[in-house]
Amino acid sequence: VHCCTSTGCRAANSLSVKKNLEGAVKDVGLSDRVQVVGVGCMGFCGNGPLVEIDPQEKLYERVTPNDAASIIEAINGGIATAPEGDLKHPFFARQLRIVRENSGKIDPESIDEYIAVGGYQPLYKVIHDMTPAEVVDEITRSGLRGRGGAGYPTGLKWATVAKMPPGQKYIVCNGDEGDPGAFMDRSVLESDPHKVLEGMAIAGYAVGASEGYIYVRAEYPLAIERLETAIKQAKKLGILGSQIFYSAFDFKINIRIGAGAFVCGEETALISSIEGGRGNPRPRPPYPAQEGLWGCPTLINNVETFANIAAIVREGGDWYASIGTEKSKGTKVFALTGKIRNNGLIEVPMGITLREIVAEMGGGIPDGEVKAVQTGGPSGGCIPASLLDTPVDYESLSNLGSMMGSGGMVVMDKETSMVEVARFYMEFCRGETCGKCIPCRAGTVQMYHTLTKILKGEANQTDLERLQALCDMVKHTSLCGLGQSAPNPVISTLRYFPEEYTTLIKPDV
Ligand code: SF4
Repeated sequence: VHCCTSTGCRAANSLSVKKNLEGAVKDVGLSDRVQVVGVGCMGFCGNGPLVEIDPQEKLYERVTPNDAASIIEAINGGIATAPEGDLKHPFFARQLRIVRENSGKIDPESIDEYIAVGGYQPLYKVIHDMTPAEVVDEITRSGLRGRGGAGYPTGLKWATVAKMPPGQKYIVCNGDEGDPGAFMDRSVLESDPHKVLEGMAIAGYAVGASEGYIYVRAEYPLAIERLETAIKQAKKLGILGSQIFYSAFDFKINIRIGAGAFVCGEETALISSIEGGRGNPRPRPPYPAQEGLWGCPTLINNVETFANIAAIVREGGDWYASIGTEKSKGTKVFALTGKIRNNGLIEVPMGITLREIVAEMGGGIPDGEVKAVQTGGPSGGCIPASLLDTPVDYESLSNLGSMMGSGGMVVMDKETSMVEVARFYMEFCRGETCGKCIPCRAGTVQMYHTLTKILKGEANQTDLERLQALCDMVKHTSLCGLGQSAPNPVISTLRYFPEEYTTLIKPDV
């Protein structure tokens, strides 16, 4: 009996559900053949707490502690009082799970369960059967691109660090997920922490690094706790530390807890934060691959990128490259949220259309119509319903003025004011700018005030033109990605929903 014990279901009292399930197993005398296991996120977060019976393939949703006894009785033919979910629904059936293959299936606090499903075999394989160059080649052949947002080719990044002269190098895992509506990385870390550690260790072997850091925001206490447990377990079994698997390869992993600044997701700001400095970005070059943590060559990838690595080594780069589109390979995890029927986490092959995600998997909007889908968080844009047949890949989303981002996908209905949406994201960026460069520091504040003026009906045509000019200036003159992409929600709503602005504009006098 799998009971989700990740943050979403915990918030809905799943720990009490689990306790009552364990009690019920004892009460009915099934302890010899039924085991209650706390697992990671099953994905259907909006309907939690979730309980799945394996191998009966039954899913129960919105389970309360009082439903527990009937669920255990249902294993033997009784009737459960909790609503039964449909595992054949497109929400589940359309998914292709690579990053999340173990999520909701194994106990994230047990290294034995991870090993039992083949975990750490890829690490063993690279150390004993492959040269570092062969590992880099495999990742390059897979076509994997960075899942943190920018989509830089992962193999190229690894090759750059690998080519730097031998000496101290670092691996950094960016777990500073901060987009409103995004919880992909949190879920991966909470549900399958060993998979991320394994990806980092393989990267360390490939590029010649002996030490890694995982940077996780303090708002993710369960992810941090499970990572700490996983690191301890792996060290105890000789999978992390010195002479891993009796080889000459040493690799240790440290955790650094961020204080919740969105800008620390920018790699140079993140490095500064790990070093104990203020989380301010710096100009590039030099790139972290050349001069990163403490001035040493550093490979930075995000949580989801590292979580793909073990499967690529296990199945081969060609297998991974056979999934997805020509330029966007593999799968992507999205946090599907907003005014949609089925909220939660999905992992889909690249190239699936937004319509398939929103209408089929998400089940559409209850009693309404889709107006727009916001992808990419504060750096992304709003895509109108008329473009829902767009395939989800890096280039297509960027051509529409949005971006893949780390995987936030917020669905909006006809009641949503797109100017309000633009102001919401601008308010977020205004609060999160580090203030180092003027275009972003002052520009986000000015854009926020102008959007407020428009919403109050106090702006005129000149204000609207100034807003457009500000978007252009901030986008092209800010130092880092935060400022460069902050205007995107405004630009995309101006592009696709201009009438929502013009109807609020008072005539020039
Ligand atoms: Fe800081 Fe914004 Fe400049 Fe980035 S663009 S360095 S967040 S002020």
